[in-house]
Amino acid sequence: MRNKSRLVHELERLLGPRSVLFQDQDLALYEYDGSIERGRPDLVVFPRTAENVSAIVKIANREGLPFQPRGAGTGLSGGTVADQGGITIAMSRMKQIEIDAPNLRAIVQPGVVNHDLSIAAAPFGLYYVPDPSSQKACSIGGNVAENAGGPHCLAYGVTTNHVLGLQVVLPDGEIIETGGAALDTPGYDLTGLFVGSEGTLGIVTQIIVRLVPLPEAVRTLLAVFPSVETASNAVSAVIAAGNEPAAMEMMDNTAIQAVEAAKHAGYPLDAGAVLLIDVEGVREGLDELVAQISDICRAEGAYEIRIPQMAEEREKLWSGRKGAFGAMGRLAPSYYVQDGVVPRTQVPAILRKIGEIAQKYEVRIANVFHAGDGNLHPLILFDERDELLTQRVIQAGNEIIRECINVGGSITGEHGVGIEKRDLMALMFSPVDLQVMARIKALFNPDNRLNPCKLLPATKSCIEVSAKRRAAMRKPLAVGARELESIGGLPIP
Ligand SMILES: Cc1cc2nc3c(=O)[nH]c(=O)nc-3n(C[C@H](O)[C@H](O)[C@H](O)COP(=O)(O)OP(=O)(O)OC[C@H]3O[C@@H](n4cnc5c(N)ncnc54)[C@H](O)[C@@H]3O)c2cc1C
Repeated sequence: MRNKSRLVHELERLLGPRSVLFQDQDLALYEYDGSIERGRPDLVVFPRTAENVSAIVKIANREGLPFQPRGAGTGLSGGTVADQGGITIAMSRMKQIEIDAPNLRAIVQPGVVNHDLSIAAAPFGLYYVPDPSSQKACSIGGNVAENAGGPHCLAYGVTTNHVLGLQVVLPDGEIIETGGAALDTPGYDLTGLFVGSEGTLGIVTQIIVRLVPLPEAVRTLLAVFPSVETASNAVSAVIAAGNEPAAMEMMDNTAIQAVEAAKHAGYPLDAGAVLLIDVEGVREGLDELVAQISDICRAEGAYEIRIPQMAEEREKLWSGRKGAFGAMGRLAPSYYVQDGVVPRTQVPAILRKIGEIAQKYEVRIANVFHAGDGNLHPLILFDERDELLTQRVIQAGNEIIRECINVGGSITGEHGVGIEKRDLMALMFSPVDLQVMARIKALFNPDNRLNPCKLLPATKSCIEVSAKRRAAMRKPLAVGARELESIGGLPIP
């Protein structure tokens, strides 16, 4: 990068001391997210306001540099990875929360950690529904960009269903507002367009979110099955019977082994698969609902049903489930997680296929997933220092995604496309579909400096620049599942 020291001084004057990272050892901490993609930025900056972000964007444009927003870096598709270099705009110091309890909403800055919002809302008897398993680390800005889901989105919908309005810095530095506090706003639904746009259309600097009352009562049920097949059949049967659990999560035996080794959460080690089910609402009628779901699970082959009576036991089971990705560090140094979605009834067939793919590529795969949504998370276990194995792992991952598409599914349920799946977009969308998306991107981001080479199939120049920068980087840090286990986010200077 030319004129780096001049630029660092200019940005430090703008943002204050300790707001710009420029040394290699610091930048190395920002060259990855939770995926296997790598790309080191030239600078990392920490704005505190929308005006700061706007000024940074204008400077980047003046210098002809790419720039990308970054939340907590827990993304699983390389969305924030600077594979084209440039300035990474880290939102982690934009953490203000304003709870507007009478209107059941909150106004938050994008760096707010998802779980912190629900903690702040709890004294008002409210919470923020979307709860990605990474919620103790990931940011609301990252959730908006990825349209994040979570275990409890089964009944209440994903991020887009809980965002009322946004403030966004556009790629030319202009600041706009979309949606608003009122229930409906006229004009195009720009809020809907920005949610899930993976930081390619604008940088979100404020979010108005919906809050909902905490449920009067919650019951958790652990159903233990001999196989993933019987557990999958139970998922379909429970929903087909007209029940609407708040969450329905599945873990297979490999996942249980890892979770128990790491978390001692109380899952049975001999289970072929378990279903962790939450039902919630008004107290009256909840026990009957639990009994009904238990009966269906038993009819589908569950040989044990556990209904925790104490809050600690329930929390332990959930902390095991939410810590499952990190727990994979007990089995292998790295994991490659896929995020395909299939129609719920196809879950048993696709899990069989995943087993066959594991055998074909000689890899071990654990399955932990949002079963109620048919949103699979096969975790392919490996060691990323073994390059040949890494290639086999990527091929296995791609084959799983192709199988999901073959049965009417999608390449991603909630982790986004980013770098990782950009070339798989052509499997799902026609050239015309992709052109329409490219036109929308070009309308907001005509110079393609904001988060370039993400979401849509890569151009030749994207691949060349990324390969050149990667070759110039020292050997990638061996960041694997074990580091993510503590899921405490990345160090902030
Ligand atoms: C252990 C683990 C479990 C997970 N479980 C789930 C889960 O259950 N459900 C789920 O949906 N995801 C899950 N994820 C994936 C990840 O946590 C989510 O995608 C999350 O929304 C990313 O947030 P982040 O703050 O880490 O964003 P980052 O990784 O920093 O960035 C993600 C994307 O958002 C963009 N971005 C960030 N901030 C902004 C902003 N202010 N404006 C515009 N764009 C922005 C970035 O450019 C990038 O494209 C999990 C990840 C891990 C590691």
